[in-house]
Amino acid sequence: MALIITEECINCGACEPECPTNAITEGPDIFIIDADKCVECVGHFDDPQCVAVCPVDCCVKP
Ligand code: SF4
Ligand code: SF4
Repeated sequence: MALIITEECINCGACEPECPTNAITEGPDIFIIDADKCVECVGHFDDPQCVAVCPVDCCVKP
């Protein structure tokens, strides 16, 4: 149960501080979500926060 960031990512960094489990980090090319840490925001927020803030809608369910 984890979201992924697609290659559409523009490295804006908006998602990183919004993640309640610190699952998002800046990777070598684009930001990445650690599948072991992402809980899809269940228990924290009503909706996935990375999806809510991403300007290019590249945080998606695999
Ligand atoms: S869905 Fe929530 S827990 Fe998963 S990466 Fe996005 S902000 Fe973090
Ligand atoms: S908010 Fe979207 S475009 Fe910005 S760093 Fe995160 S995944 Fe990439």
